[in-house]
Amino acid sequence: MNNTLTAFLLLICVLVAPAQQQGSDMNSLNPFYKEFDTPFGTPPFDKIKNEHFMPAFIKGMEVQKKEVDAVITDTLPPTFHNTIEVLDRTGDMLGRVSAVFFTLQGANTNDDIQKIANNVTPLLTKHQDDINLNEKLFRRVKTIYDARSSAGLDAEQLKLLEDYYSNFVRGGASLPADKKDRFRAINEELSLLCLKFDENVLKEANNFKLVVDKKSDLAGLPQSVIDAAAEAASKAGSKGTWLFTVKKPSMLPFLQYAKNRALREKLLKAYIMRGDNNNESDNKIIAAKIGALRVERSNLLGFKTYADFSLDRTMAKTPQNVYDLLNKLWEPALKNAKKECEEMQAIVKKEGGKFTIQPWDWWYYAEKVRKQKYDLDENELRPYFLMENVRKGVFDLATTLYGIRFTERKDITTYSDEVTVFEVKEKDGTSIGLLYTDYYPRPGKQSGAWCGAFRTQERRGNAMITPLVTNVGNFSRPVGDKPSLLSREEVETLFHEFGHALNALFSNVTYKGLSTPGDIIELPSQIMENWAFNPDVMKTYAFHYKTGKLIPQNLIDKIEKSSKFNQGFITVEYLAACYLDMNWHTLTSTIPVETNAFEKESLNKIRLIPEIVSRYRSANFLHIFSSSYYAAGYYYYIWAEVLDADAFEAFKEKGLFDQQTAKAFRDNILARLQADDAMKQYERFRGKKPSIEPLLKRRGLE
Ligand SMILES: [Zn+2]
Repeated sequence: MNNTLTAFLLLICVLVAPAQQQGSDMNSLNPFYKEFDTPFGTPPFDKIKNEHFMPAFIKGMEVQKKEVDAVITDTLPPTFHNTIEVLDRTGDMLGRVSAVFFTLQGANTNDDIQKIANNVTPLLTKHQDDINLNEKLFRRVKTIYDARSSAGLDAEQLKLLEDYYSNFVRGGASLPADKKDRFRAINEELSLLCLKFDENVLKEANNFKLVVDKKSDLAGLPQSVIDAAAEAASKAGSKGTWLFTVKKPSMLPFLQYAKNRALREKLLKAYIMRGDNNNESDNKIIAAKIGALRVERSNLLGFKTYADFSLDRTMAKTPQNVYDLLNKLWEPALKNAKKECEEMQAIVKKEGGKFTIQPWDWWYYAEKVRKQKYDLDENELRPYFLMENVRKGVFDLATTLYGIRFTERKDITTYSDEVTVFEVKEKDGTSIGLLYTDYYPRPGKQSGAWCGAFRTQERRGNAMITPLVTNVGNFSRPVGDKPSLLSREEVETLFHEFGHALNALFSNVTYKGLSTPGDIIELPSQIMENWAFNPDVMKTYAFHYKTGKLIPQNLIDKIEKSSKFNQGFITVEYLAACYLDMNWHTLTSTIPVETNAFEKESLNKIRLIPEIVSRYRSANFLHIFSSSYYAAGYYYYIWAEVLDADAFEAFKEKGLFDQQTAKAFRDNILARLQADDAMKQYERFRGKKPSIEPLLKRRGLE
């Protein structure tokens, strides 16, 4: 999912809060107060304690305020170098503490961290607003912006200037004074609502437990799934039973294999209903409030809807363009899904079942179809997808394409013993950064998978600041003495997040404040998925975890043959969520809607079939409500898929491992996507604009 890199950058970028006195002891003990004195400048997790965060946030904001004040009071006429470039280099301390704190808040949180998040969020919002809404500062930026064509700036500097100007305007800088107060109030309320939304989803996911105490209720489940559930129960203090949760590595195999239909229903419903249980962690009112406040905020900035505001800075540009793409895909996808459903219904009938397929039947019967049509049992594959091998496989692929190498570094301290750190080096030995992988679910980890960073790449004078990148996932964990064996979907996700990591590691720009349109952010990640199950790539990593034997050719063939299997369902559940997101963000009223009624109407409008539920429901749609990053942006994945399918054609034309094509992709996309107009960069790589046909073909939607 989430590329949180950009979200970090936004956080790191700007802000101002009341100064607090810090004792000198604290100054010397708080690891955030100076640059980390560690290998690669990595966060010293052995020294960082929760009590360090709040003082470091306060101090970090105070320092940045001083740095920004110096820009504002500069008596020299404003120039790119004395204003924009200086602004881009403010906030180092705040950046350090924010990156560490928000990584932990996503990947390893606890009550203390959540409390700090609640306290610091309004302060950070205010700090950001104090900078964005400072009139004198904006006047300087605007003066430089207005004279940009004759300022002798190179393309990257010009892009940075445009990004800053746009950030200021979109941050409310040109609002009249009387509207600025309301604008600030909305920002503060939104930041707290989003945080609460996020917290509630995590709470609901942790609270639900399906405890099975009768062996007969496990019928159909593979032994590995049963063992994992027994171990989970044992850890939770219920030895002798089996525990299933709504976390994907636990839930999906149950839905795929458990014969007990009532229990499948119970489990899936718990997943679907997260945030919609009319309890203290209910998200319906929060979602509606966020929706309404976003309308009001957009109106203040002169936009009719939040989607108009948000899309203004993407490749898609307008809500209509997004709807056009969704509409083009919807009918053919729905038709395919209905066909898939009929095939499943036929099996139900043949087995003597007297019911119509329900959402909790889909995975179960889809698995039967897969078996029947392709003679492929998803579970046969897992033994060949040992996590360590898959990870090495994606590293080796990067070596083949880009010449880079990965070495594990055991000397780097981390926030959990489940995190592994790798140094990434060019062919010539130059170090280009570190990659932290953190792949297993924990109660303190939010659901999904994402890429983040403790530090992003930039250049200061001749000094190259290298990135420290994280890949976080919720994959199947080792059970007993059995290692982590991944599902096909998990392999794909691992490749996906690694693509984001390559984007961050290869970044080669001067300024950290450059921004990338949201709807191309998933190109670097999704293109990696194309290689995941390529026969030649699988031959480098798919070895049986016990015997070490390579995956047999007949399994490789079956994987290839079944590549379009269930694509109707996958596309429909995803597109339904895209429509839901777009509908939320094309609201024009500032009065909160009734969340479930609104959702129902949205999904009725596209005639979603009852056998399929939108991939996320409003009350647990983290992408759009836990931050604004994917708000009116859940479509990013499919927009970027047009690009990645088209981009992968370039590799198909020249050879899947063609280093020249890889170099062009690295130079124009991975390293410098943010340094110029995104479409221009794409055309530099591809030599033409992207076309939609490769996507339609891949998804079987022609
Ligand atoms: Zn992604």
